[in-house]
Amino acid sequence: AIQPTADIGLVGLAVMGENLVLNMANHGYTVAVFNRTTSKVDAFLADRAKDKPILGAHSVEELVANLKRPRKIMIMVKAGAPVDQVIDELVPLLEPGDVLIDGGNSHFPDSTRRTRALKEKGILYVGTGVSGGEEGALKGPSIMPGGNPDAWPLVKPIFQAIAARAPDGTPCCDWVGPEGSGHYVKMVHNGIEYGDMQLICEAYFVMRKLLGMEPAALHDVFDRWNQGPLDSYLVEITRDILAQKDDETGKPMIDVILDTAGQKGTGKWTVISACDLGVPLTLISEAVFARTLSSQKDERVAASKILKVHPTSFNGNRQAMVDDVERALYASKIISYAQGFALMRGMAKESGWEINNGAVAMMWRGGCIIRSAFLGRIKEAFDRDPNLTNLLIDPFFAQEIGRAEEGWRRVCAAAITHGIPVPAMTSALSYFDGYRTAQLPANLLQAQRDFFGAHTYERTDKPRGQYFHTNWTGRG
Ligand code: NAP
Repeated sequence: AIQPTADIGLVGLAVMGENLVLNMANHGYTVAVFNRTTSKVDAFLADRAKDKPILGAHSVEELVANLKRPRKIMIMVKAGAPVDQVIDELVPLLEPGDVLIDGGNSHFPDSTRRTRALKEKGILYVGTGVSGGEEGALKGPSIMPGGNPDAWPLVKPIFQAIAARAPDGTPCCDWVGPEGSGHYVKMVHNGIEYGDMQLICEAYFVMRKLLGMEPAALHDVFDRWNQGPLDSYLVEITRDILAQKDDETGKPMIDVILDTAGQKGTGKWTVISACDLGVPLTLISEAVFARTLSSQKDERVAASKILKVHPTSFNGNRQAMVDDVERALYASKIISYAQGFALMRGMAKESGWEINNGAVAMMWRGGCIIRSAFLGRIKEAFDRDPNLTNLLIDPFFAQEIGRAEEGWRRVCAAAITHGIPVPAMTSALSYFDGYRTAQLPANLLQAQRDFFGAHTYERTDKPRGQYFHTNWTGRG
Protein backbone atom coordinates (compact mmCIF):
# COMPACT_ATOMS: atom_id res chain seq x y z
CA ALA A 1 0.00 0.00 0.00
CA ILE A 2 1.07 3.60 -0.68
CA GLN A 3 2.20 5.60 2.37
CA PRO A 4 0.14 8.81 2.41
CA THR A 5 2.83 11.50 2.51
CA ALA A 6 1.43 14.32 0.37
CA ASP A 7 0.10 17.50 1.99
CA ILE A 8 -2.17 18.26 -0.93
CA GLY A 9 -3.17 16.82 -4.30
CA LEU A 10 -3.75 18.65 -7.57
CA VAL A 11 -5.73 17.53 -10.60
CA GLY A 12 -5.10 19.24 -13.96
CA LEU A 13 -1.54 19.83 -15.10
CA ALA A 14 -2.07 22.61 -17.63
CA VAL A 15 -0.41 26.02 -17.34
CA MET A 16 -2.03 27.05 -14.07
CA GLY A 17 -1.92 23.66 -12.38
CA GLU A 18 1.76 22.99 -13.07
CA ASN A 19 2.84 26.37 -11.80
CA LEU A 20 0.72 26.18 -8.65
CA VAL A 21 2.20 22.76 -7.88
CA LEU A 22 5.74 24.12 -8.27
CA ASN A 23 4.84 27.09 -6.07
CA MET A 24 3.55 24.73 -3.34
CA ALA A 25 6.61 22.48 -3.66
CA ASN A 26 8.93 25.49 -3.48
CA HIS A 27 7.28 26.34 -0.15
CA GLY A 28 8.08 22.89 1.23
CA TYR A 29 4.75 21.17 0.62
CA THR A 30 4.62 17.66 -0.79
CA VAL A 31 2.16 17.59 -3.67
CA ALA A 32 0.58 14.60 -5.39
CA VAL A 33 -0.46 15.31 -8.98
CA PHE A 34 -2.81 13.78 -11.52
CA ASN A 35 -3.87 14.72 -15.04
CA ARG A 36 -6.48 13.02 -17.24
CA THR A 37 -3.90 12.62 -20.01
CA THR A 38 -1.36 10.81 -17.85
CA SER A 39 1.55 11.35 -20.22
CA LYS A 40 1.50 14.94 -18.94
CA VAL A 41 2.13 13.63 -15.42
CA ASP A 42 5.19 11.76 -16.62
CA ALA A 43 6.44 14.70 -18.67
CA PHE A 44 6.04 17.02 -15.67
CA LEU A 45 7.87 14.63 -13.34
CA ALA A 46 10.71 14.16 -15.77
CA ASP A 47 11.14 17.88 -16.34
CA ARG A 48 9.95 20.78 -14.17
CA ALA A 49 8.98 18.64 -11.16
CA LYS A 50 12.32 16.83 -11.06
CA ASP A 51 14.00 16.73 -7.63
CA LYS A 52 11.01 18.43 -6.00
CA PRO A 53 8.60 16.98 -3.42
CA ILE A 54 6.08 16.12 -6.17
CA LEU A 55 4.50 12.66 -6.55
CA GLY A 56 2.94 11.60 -9.83
CA ALA A 57 -0.27 9.55 -9.97
CA HIS A 58 -1.73 7.73 -12.96
CA SER A 59 -5.22 7.41 -11.53
CA VAL A 60 -7.45 9.29 -9.13
CA GLU A 61 -7.24 6.27 -6.79
CA GLU A 62 -3.47 6.56 -6.70
CA LEU A 63 -3.72 10.31 -6.15
CA VAL A 64 -6.07 9.91 -3.20
CA ALA A 65 -3.97 7.11 -1.68
CA ASN A 66 -0.99 9.49 -1.56
CA LEU A 67 -2.77 12.12 0.55
CA LYS A 68 -2.53 12.70 4.29
CA ARG A 69 -5.87 13.05 6.09
CA PRO A 70 -7.94 15.15 6.04
CA ARG A 71 -7.25 15.08 2.32
CA LYS A 72 -7.02 18.28 0.34
CA ILE A 73 -7.34 18.19 -3.43
CA MET A 74 -7.18 21.20 -5.72
CA ILE A 75 -8.83 20.96 -9.13
CA MET A 76 -7.30 23.11 -11.91
CA VAL A 77 -9.15 21.92 -15.03
CA LYS A 78 -11.20 23.72 -17.65
CA ALA A 79 -14.15 25.49 -16.07
CA GLY A 80 -17.66 24.07 -16.58
CA ALA A 81 -18.61 20.41 -17.00
CA PRO A 82 -15.00 19.13 -16.59
CA VAL A 83 -15.02 20.34 -12.96
CA ASP A 84 -18.19 18.34 -12.24
CA GLN A 85 -16.68 15.30 -13.96
CA VAL A 86 -13.56 15.46 -11.82
CA ILE A 87 -15.62 15.99 -8.65
CA ASP A 88 -17.76 12.95 -9.53
CA GLU A 89 -14.64 10.82 -9.96
CA LEU A 90 -13.08 11.98 -6.69
CA VAL A 91 -16.01 12.04 -4.30
CA PRO A 92 -16.52 8.25 -3.99
CA LEU A 93 -12.87 8.02 -2.87
CA LEU A 94 -13.15 10.72 -0.18
CA GLU A 95 -14.39 10.76 3.43
CA PRO A 96 -16.28 13.35 5.45
CA GLY A 97 -13.92 16.16 6.47
CA ASP A 98 -11.85 15.98 3.27
CA VAL A 99 -11.47 19.22 1.29
CA LEU A 100 -12.09 19.73 -2.42
CA ILE A 101 -10.92 23.00 -3.96
CA ASP A 102 -11.75 24.31 -7.42
CA GLY A 103 -9.22 26.94 -8.45
CA GLY A 104 -10.40 27.49 -12.04
CA ASN A 105 -12.48 30.35 -13.38
CA SER A 106 -15.80 28.74 -12.49
CA HIS A 107 -19.02 30.71 -12.68
CA PHE A 108 -20.09 31.50 -9.11
CA PRO A 109 -23.55 29.80 -9.22
CA ASP A 110 -21.74 26.53 -10.02
CA SER A 111 -19.59 26.96 -6.92
CA THR A 112 -22.64 27.66 -4.79
CA ARG A 113 -24.33 24.52 -6.14
CA ARG A 114 -21.20 22.39 -5.58
CA THR A 115 -20.60 23.72 -2.05
CA ARG A 116 -24.18 22.80 -1.10
CA ALA A 117 -24.19 19.39 -2.77
CA LEU A 118 -20.87 18.34 -1.24
CA LYS A 119 -21.84 19.58 2.21
CA GLU A 120 -24.53 16.87 2.17
CA LYS A 121 -21.73 14.32 1.81
CA GLY A 122 -19.56 15.94 4.50
CA ILE A 123 -17.00 17.12 1.93
CA LEU A 124 -15.71 20.63 2.53
CA TYR A 125 -15.85 22.45 -0.79
CA VAL A 126 -13.90 25.57 -1.68
CA GLY A 127 -14.36 27.59 -4.86
CA THR A 128 -11.41 29.91 -5.18
CA GLY A 129 -10.42 32.60 -7.60
CA VAL A 130 -6.76 32.46 -8.57
CA SER A 131 -5.40 35.47 -10.40
CA GLY A 132 -2.03 36.41 -11.80
CA GLY A 133 -1.78 34.11 -14.80
CA GLU A 134 1.09 31.73 -15.29
CA GLU A 135 3.72 33.81 -13.53
CA GLY A 136 1.46 34.57 -10.59
CA ALA A 137 0.65 30.89 -10.14
CA LEU A 138 4.37 30.12 -9.88
CA LYS A 139 5.61 33.09 -7.89
CA GLY A 140 2.57 34.16 -5.90
CA PRO A 141 -0.99 34.62 -7.13
CA SER A 142 -3.86 36.47 -5.56
CA ILE A 143 -6.09 33.76 -4.08
CA MET A 144 -9.77 34.43 -3.26
CA PRO A 145 -11.30 31.40 -1.54
CA GLY A 146 -14.94 30.97 -0.58
CA GLY A 147 -17.21 28.04 0.15
CA ASN A 148 -17.54 25.86 3.23
CA PRO A 149 -16.00 27.91 6.06
CA ASP A 150 -14.85 24.74 7.88
CA ALA A 151 -12.32 24.26 5.08
CA TRP A 152 -10.57 27.57 5.71
CA PRO A 153 -8.39 26.58 8.71
CA LEU A 154 -7.29 23.50 6.74
CA VAL A 155 -6.22 25.34 3.58
CA LYS A 156 -5.19 28.68 5.08
CA PRO A 157 -1.52 27.84 5.82
CA ILE A 158 -0.78 26.52 2.37
CA PHE A 159 -2.77 29.20 0.52
CA GLN A 160 -1.26 32.07 2.46
CA ALA A 161 2.22 30.56 2.01
CA ILE A 162 1.96 30.42 -1.78
CA ALA A 163 0.02 33.69 -2.28
CA ALA A 164 1.53 36.98 -3.32
CA ARG A 165 2.28 39.52 -0.61
CA ALA A 166 1.29 43.15 -0.43
CA PRO A 167 4.18 45.58 0.12
CA ASP A 168 3.49 45.52 3.88
CA GLY A 169 3.87 41.72 3.90
CA THR A 170 0.17 40.81 4.18
CA PRO A 171 -0.66 37.71 2.10
CA CYS A 172 -2.97 38.41 -0.85
CA CYS A 173 -5.30 35.65 0.27
CA ASP A 174 -8.03 35.70 2.88
CA TRP A 175 -11.37 33.97 3.36
CA VAL A 176 -13.97 35.71 1.20
CA GLY A 177 -17.21 34.15 2.43
CA PRO A 178 -19.65 31.28 1.91
CA GLU A 179 -20.71 29.36 -1.21
CA GLY A 180 -19.72 30.91 -4.53
CA SER A 181 -18.45 34.17 -3.00
CA GLY A 182 -14.80 33.44 -3.80
CA HIS A 183 -15.58 32.96 -7.45
CA TYR A 184 -17.92 35.93 -7.36
CA VAL A 185 -15.10 38.16 -6.15
CA LYS A 186 -12.77 36.73 -8.80
CA MET A 187 -15.42 37.46 -11.42
CA VAL A 188 -15.69 41.08 -10.26
CA HIS A 189 -11.88 41.26 -10.27
CA ASN A 190 -11.96 40.26 -13.93
CA GLY A 191 -14.68 42.82 -14.66
CA ILE A 192 -12.58 45.52 -13.02
CA GLU A 193 -9.64 44.30 -15.07
CA TYR A 194 -11.74 44.88 -18.23
CA GLY A 195 -12.49 48.42 -16.99
CA ASP A 196 -8.89 49.26 -16.12
CA MET A 197 -7.67 48.01 -19.49
CA GLN A 198 -10.31 49.93 -21.43
CA LEU A 199 -9.52 53.14 -19.52
CA ILE A 200 -5.83 52.80 -20.29
CA CYS A 201 -6.71 52.22 -23.96
CA GLU A 202 -8.83 55.37 -24.00
CA ALA A 203 -6.06 57.44 -22.38
CA TYR A 204 -3.65 56.10 -25.00
CA PHE A 205 -6.11 56.82 -27.80
CA VAL A 206 -6.76 60.44 -26.77
CA MET A 207 -3.04 61.17 -26.65
CA ARG A 208 -2.44 59.37 -29.92
CA LYS A 209 -5.38 60.76 -31.91
CA LEU A 210 -5.84 64.18 -30.37
CA LEU A 211 -2.21 65.05 -29.63
CA GLY A 212 -0.62 62.90 -32.32
CA MET A 213 1.86 61.38 -29.88
CA GLU A 214 4.02 58.46 -31.02
CA PRO A 215 4.49 55.23 -29.03
CA ALA A 216 7.96 56.28 -27.82
CA ALA A 217 6.59 59.50 -26.33
CA LEU A 218 3.65 57.62 -24.85
CA HIS A 219 6.07 55.18 -23.26
CA ASP A 220 7.57 58.11 -21.35
CA VAL A 221 4.14 59.32 -20.27
CA PHE A 222 3.11 55.92 -18.89
CA ASP A 223 6.51 55.60 -17.23
CA ARG A 224 5.86 58.86 -15.37
CA TRP A 225 2.28 57.89 -14.50
CA ASN A 226 3.51 54.64 -13.04
CA GLN A 227 5.36 56.63 -10.40
CA GLY A 228 2.23 58.47 -9.26
CA PRO A 229 -1.24 57.48 -8.03
CA LEU A 230 -1.74 55.29 -11.13
CA ASP A 231 1.18 53.04 -10.12
CA SER A 232 -0.05 49.59 -11.17
CA TYR A 233 0.82 46.44 -13.04
CA LEU A 234 -1.37 47.36 -16.04
CA VAL A 235 0.17 50.84 -16.44
CA GLU A 236 3.60 49.25 -16.11
CA ILE A 237 3.02 46.68 -18.85
CA THR A 238 1.43 49.36 -21.05
CA ARG A 239 4.64 51.38 -20.69
CA ASP A 240 6.67 48.34 -21.76
CA ILE A 241 4.31 47.46 -24.62
CA LEU A 242 4.75 50.97 -26.04
CA ALA A 243 8.53 50.54 -26.16
CA GLN A 244 8.40 47.16 -27.89
CA LYS A 245 9.51 46.94 -31.54
CA ASP A 246 8.29 44.31 -34.00
CA ASP A 247 11.13 42.01 -35.06
CA GLU A 248 9.68 41.55 -38.53
CA THR A 249 9.10 45.17 -39.55
CA GLY A 250 11.01 47.25 -37.00
CA LYS A 251 7.81 49.21 -36.36
CA PRO A 252 6.38 49.78 -32.90
CA MET A 253 4.71 46.48 -31.94
CA ILE A 254 1.51 48.31 -31.03
CA ASP A 255 1.17 49.49 -34.65
CA VAL A 256 1.18 46.02 -36.17
CA ILE A 257 -1.42 44.50 -33.83
CA LEU A 258 -4.97 44.31 -35.20
CA ASP A 259 -7.54 46.32 -33.22
CA THR A 260 -10.03 43.55 -32.48
CA ALA A 261 -10.28 42.38 -28.88
CA GLY A 262 -11.29 38.97 -27.63
CA GLN A 263 -12.93 37.94 -24.37
CA LYS A 264 -13.66 34.79 -22.45
CA GLY A 265 -16.83 35.85 -20.66
CA THR A 266 -16.01 36.84 -17.08
CA GLY A 267 -16.60 40.51 -17.91
CA LYS A 268 -19.97 39.61 -19.39
CA TRP A 269 -20.89 37.59 -16.28
CA THR A 270 -20.05 40.62 -14.13
CA VAL A 271 -22.34 42.85 -16.16
CA ILE A 272 -25.16 40.27 -16.14
CA SER A 273 -24.90 40.03 -12.36
CA ALA A 274 -25.04 43.83 -12.07
CA CYS A 275 -28.21 43.86 -14.19
CA ASP A 276 -29.72 41.06 -12.07
CA LEU A 277 -28.96 42.94 -8.86
CA GLY A 278 -29.93 46.39 -10.19
CA VAL A 279 -26.50 47.86 -9.48
CA PRO A 280 -25.26 50.51 -11.94
CA LEU A 281 -22.01 49.05 -13.28
CA THR A 282 -21.76 51.35 -16.24
CA LEU A 283 -18.01 51.50 -16.73
CA ILE A 284 -17.36 47.77 -16.87
CA SER A 285 -20.40 47.39 -19.13
CA GLU A 286 -18.92 49.93 -21.53
CA ALA A 287 -15.61 48.07 -21.38
CA VAL A 288 -17.31 44.81 -22.35
CA PHE A 289 -19.19 46.49 -25.21
CA ALA A 290 -16.04 48.30 -26.35
CA ARG A 291 -14.50 44.88 -26.92
CA THR A 292 -17.52 43.71 -28.89
CA LEU A 293 -17.51 46.89 -31.00
CA SER A 294 -13.80 46.44 -31.65
CA SER A 295 -14.43 42.95 -32.94
CA GLN A 296 -16.79 44.29 -35.63
CA LYS A 297 -13.76 45.32 -37.65
CA ASP A 298 -15.21 44.89 -41.14
CA GLU A 299 -18.34 46.86 -40.29
CA ARG A 300 -16.28 49.64 -38.76
CA VAL A 301 -14.02 49.86 -41.77
CA ALA A 302 -17.05 50.07 -44.06
CA ALA A 303 -18.76 52.66 -41.86
CA SER A 304 -15.60 54.78 -41.63
CA LYS A 305 -15.94 55.41 -45.37
CA ILE A 306 -19.54 56.63 -45.03
CA LEU A 307 -19.60 58.36 -41.64
CA LYS A 308 -16.50 60.47 -42.14
CA VAL A 309 -14.70 62.21 -39.27
CA HIS A 310 -14.16 65.91 -39.98
CA PRO A 311 -10.56 66.37 -38.92
CA THR A 312 -9.99 69.27 -36.56
CA SER A 313 -6.72 70.13 -34.94
CA PHE A 314 -6.06 70.53 -31.26
CA ASN A 315 -5.04 74.06 -30.37
CA GLY A 316 -4.73 73.73 -26.62
CA ASN A 317 -1.71 73.23 -24.41
CA ARG A 318 -0.43 69.74 -25.12
CA GLN A 319 1.37 69.09 -21.85
CA ALA A 320 -1.66 70.35 -19.93
CA MET A 321 -3.82 67.92 -21.91
CA VAL A 322 -1.50 65.01 -21.08
CA ASP A 323 -1.82 65.92 -17.40
CA ASP A 324 -5.59 66.12 -17.81
CA VAL A 325 -5.63 62.65 -19.36
CA GLU A 326 -3.86 61.36 -16.24
CA ARG A 327 -6.60 62.98 -14.14
CA ALA A 328 -9.33 61.54 -16.37
CA LEU A 329 -7.85 58.08 -16.08
CA TYR A 330 -7.50 58.36 -12.32
CA ALA A 331 -11.01 59.75 -11.74
CA SER A 332 -12.59 57.14 -14.04
CA LYS A 333 -10.69 54.41 -12.25
CA ILE A 334 -12.12 55.60 -8.92
CA ILE A 335 -15.59 55.36 -10.47
CA SER A 336 -14.92 51.85 -11.76
CA TYR A 337 -13.82 50.57 -8.36
CA ALA A 338 -16.65 52.41 -6.62
CA GLN A 339 -19.07 50.58 -8.93
CA GLY A 340 -17.30 47.24 -8.56
CA PHE A 341 -17.28 47.35 -4.77
CA ALA A 342 -20.91 48.50 -4.78
CA LEU A 343 -21.69 45.43 -6.89
CA MET A 344 -20.08 43.12 -4.33
CA ARG A 345 -22.01 44.90 -1.62
CA GLY A 346 -25.22 44.37 -3.59
CA MET A 347 -24.47 40.68 -4.03
CA ALA A 348 -23.59 40.25 -0.36
CA LYS A 349 -26.93 41.78 0.57
CA GLU A 350 -28.90 39.70 -1.92
CA SER A 351 -27.28 36.37 -1.06
CA GLY A 352 -26.69 36.89 2.64
CA TRP A 353 -22.94 36.48 2.10
CA GLU A 354 -20.74 38.62 4.27
CA ILE A 355 -18.01 39.82 1.96
CA ASN A 356 -15.23 41.73 3.69
CA ASN A 357 -14.48 44.51 1.19
CA GLY A 358 -11.29 45.58 2.95
CA ALA A 359 -9.97 42.02 2.77
CA VAL A 360 -10.88 41.88 -0.91
CA ALA A 361 -8.92 45.09 -1.59
CA MET A 362 -5.96 43.52 0.20
CA MET A 363 -6.25 40.30 -1.84
CA TRP A 364 -6.09 42.38 -5.02
CA ARG A 365 -3.23 44.52 -3.71
CA GLY A 366 -0.63 42.08 -5.06
CA GLY A 367 -0.30 39.05 -7.32
CA CYS A 368 -3.19 39.74 -9.66
CA ILE A 369 -3.60 41.67 -12.89
CA ILE A 370 -5.26 44.69 -11.25
CA ARG A 371 -2.64 45.00 -8.49
CA SER A 372 -1.89 48.64 -7.73
CA ALA A 373 -0.98 51.17 -5.09
CA PHE A 374 -4.56 52.42 -5.46
CA LEU A 375 -5.95 49.25 -3.86
CA GLY A 376 -4.01 50.12 -0.72
CA ARG A 377 -6.05 53.35 -0.63
CA ILE A 378 -9.26 51.37 -1.02
CA LYS A 379 -8.23 49.11 1.86
CA GLU A 380 -7.71 52.23 3.99
CA ALA A 381 -11.17 53.52 3.05
CA PHE A 382 -12.80 50.26 4.22
CA ASP A 383 -10.66 50.33 7.38
CA ARG A 384 -12.09 53.79 8.10
CA ASP A 385 -15.63 52.53 7.48
CA PRO A 386 -16.22 48.79 6.87
CA ASN A 387 -19.83 49.56 5.86
CA LEU A 388 -18.99 52.29 3.37
CA THR A 389 -21.84 52.29 0.83
CA ASN A 390 -19.79 53.83 -1.99
CA LEU A 391 -16.11 54.66 -2.30
CA LEU A 392 -17.00 58.07 -3.72
CA ILE A 393 -18.21 59.32 -0.35
CA ASP A 394 -15.06 58.25 1.48
CA PRO A 395 -13.25 61.49 2.43
CA PHE A 396 -10.02 60.54 0.63
CA PHE A 397 -11.68 59.51 -2.63
CA ALA A 398 -14.15 62.41 -2.55
CA GLN A 399 -11.18 64.76 -2.32
CA GLU A 400 -9.20 62.95 -5.02
CA ILE A 401 -12.04 62.95 -7.50
CA GLY A 402 -12.70 66.61 -6.73
CA ARG A 403 -9.09 67.43 -7.64
CA ALA A 404 -9.25 65.45 -10.88
CA GLU A 405 -12.72 66.54 -11.92
CA GLU A 406 -11.98 69.56 -14.10
CA GLY A 407 -9.24 67.84 -16.07
CA TRP A 408 -11.49 64.79 -16.50
CA ARG A 409 -14.23 67.01 -17.96
CA ARG A 410 -11.78 68.71 -20.31
CA VAL A 411 -10.62 65.34 -21.66
CA CYS A 412 -14.17 64.06 -22.19
CA ALA A 413 -15.18 67.35 -23.83
CA ALA A 414 -12.15 67.35 -26.13
CA ALA A 415 -12.67 63.72 -27.09
CA ILE A 416 -16.33 64.36 -27.86
CA THR A 417 -15.51 67.47 -29.88
CA HIS A 418 -12.91 65.64 -31.92
CA GLY A 419 -14.90 62.45 -32.43
CA ILE A 420 -12.63 60.20 -30.38
CA PRO A 421 -14.56 57.41 -28.62
CA VAL A 422 -13.97 57.32 -24.85
CA PRO A 423 -17.01 55.34 -23.68
CA ALA A 424 -15.61 54.32 -20.28
CA MET A 425 -14.37 57.78 -19.32
CA THR A 426 -17.58 59.52 -20.39
CA SER A 427 -19.92 56.97 -18.83
CA ALA A 428 -17.87 57.26 -15.63
CA LEU A 429 -18.44 61.01 -15.69
CA SER A 430 -22.18 60.55 -16.28
CA TYR A 431 -22.35 58.15 -13.35
CA PHE A 432 -20.48 60.65 -11.18
CA ASP A 433 -22.86 63.43 -12.18
CA GLY A 434 -25.84 61.15 -11.61
CA TYR A 435 -24.69 59.79 -8.27
CA ARG A 436 -24.14 63.22 -6.78
CA THR A 437 -27.41 64.66 -8.14
CA ALA A 438 -30.15 64.74 -5.51
CA GLN A 439 -32.93 65.29 -8.06
CA LEU A 440 -32.83 63.27 -11.30
CA PRO A 441 -35.41 63.40 -14.11
CA ALA A 442 -36.91 60.07 -13.09
CA ASN A 443 -39.99 61.99 -11.92
CA LEU A 444 -40.80 62.38 -15.61
CA LEU A 445 -39.99 58.74 -16.18
CA GLN A 446 -42.42 57.67 -13.47
CA ALA A 447 -45.05 59.96 -14.97
CA GLN A 448 -44.57 58.29 -18.36
CA ARG A 449 -44.79 54.84 -16.80
CA ASP A 450 -47.94 55.81 -14.97
CA PHE A 451 -49.38 57.40 -18.11
CA PHE A 452 -49.10 54.38 -20.39
CA GLY A 453 -49.06 51.53 -17.91
CA ALA A 454 -50.65 52.77 -14.66
CA HIS A 455 -47.43 51.80 -12.91
CA THR A 456 -48.07 54.43 -10.17
CA TYR A 457 -45.61 56.83 -8.55
CA GLU A 458 -44.60 58.13 -5.15
CA ARG A 459 -44.99 61.84 -4.29
CA THR A 460 -42.41 64.28 -2.99
CA ASP A 461 -44.90 65.58 -0.41
CA LYS A 462 -46.10 62.20 0.93
CA PRO A 463 -44.25 59.46 2.85
CA ARG A 464 -42.27 56.91 0.80
CA GLY A 465 -44.11 53.67 0.12
CA GLN A 466 -47.47 55.30 -0.73
CA TYR A 467 -48.35 54.91 -4.39
CA PHE A 468 -50.53 57.16 -6.51
CA HIS A 469 -52.06 57.03 -9.95
CA THR A 470 -53.28 59.88 -12.11
CA ASN A 471 -55.94 59.66 -14.76
CA TRP A 472 -53.75 61.39 -17.35
CA THR A 473 -56.16 61.41 -20.28
CA GLY A 474 -59.34 62.18 -18.43
CA ARG A 475 -60.88 59.05 -19.95
CA GLY A 476 -62.55 56.52 -17.69
P1 NAP B 1 -7.24 24.89 -19.28
O1 NAP B 1 -6.70 25.00 -20.65
O2 NAP B 1 -8.37 25.73 -18.90
O3 NAP B 1 -7.63 23.34 -18.99
C1 NAP B 1 -6.80 22.31 -19.36
C2 NAP B 1 -6.78 21.24 -18.28
O4 NAP B 1 -8.10 20.76 -18.02
C3 NAP B 1 -5.95 20.05 -18.68
O5 NAP B 1 -5.25 19.58 -17.54
C4 NAP B 1 -7.01 19.05 -19.14
O6 NAP B 1 -6.61 17.73 -19.08
C5 NAP B 1 -8.08 19.32 -18.12
N1 NAP B 1 -9.41 18.84 -18.52
C6 NAP B 1 -10.21 19.38 -19.47
N2 NAP B 1 -11.36 18.65 -19.54
C7 NAP B 1 -11.27 17.68 -18.60
C8 NAP B 1 -12.14 16.65 -18.18
N3 NAP B 1 -13.34 16.51 -18.72
N4 NAP B 1 -11.72 15.84 -17.19
C9 NAP B 1 -10.50 15.99 -16.63
N5 NAP B 1 -9.65 16.95 -16.98
C10 NAP B 1 -10.02 17.79 -17.95
O7 NAP B 1 -6.02 25.07 -18.24
P2 NAP B 1 -5.40 26.40 -17.57
O8 NAP B 1 -5.18 27.47 -18.58
O9 NAP B 1 -4.26 25.95 -16.75
O10 NAP B 1 -6.56 26.91 -16.63
C11 NAP B 1 -7.11 26.13 -15.59
C12 NAP B 1 -8.22 26.92 -14.95
O11 NAP B 1 -7.67 28.11 -14.39
C13 NAP B 1 -9.32 27.39 -15.91
O12 NAP B 1 -10.56 27.39 -15.26
C14 NAP B 1 -8.89 28.79 -16.25
O13 NAP B 1 -9.99 29.59 -16.68
C15 NAP B 1 -8.33 29.24 -14.93
N6 NAP B 1 -7.36 30.34 -15.00
C16 NAP B 1 -6.45 30.43 -16.00
C17 NAP B 1 -5.54 31.48 -16.03
C18 NAP B 1 -4.51 31.56 -17.10
O14 NAP B 1 -3.78 32.57 -17.15
N7 NAP B 1 -4.37 30.55 -17.97
C19 NAP B 1 -5.55 32.43 -15.02
C20 NAP B 1 -6.45 32.30 -14.00
C21 NAP B 1 -7.36 31.28 -14.00
P3 NAP B 1 -5.96 17.03 -20.39
O15 NAP B 1 -4.50 17.35 -20.33
O16 NAP B 1 -6.23 15.57 -20.18
O17 NAP B 1 -6.65 17.58 -21.59
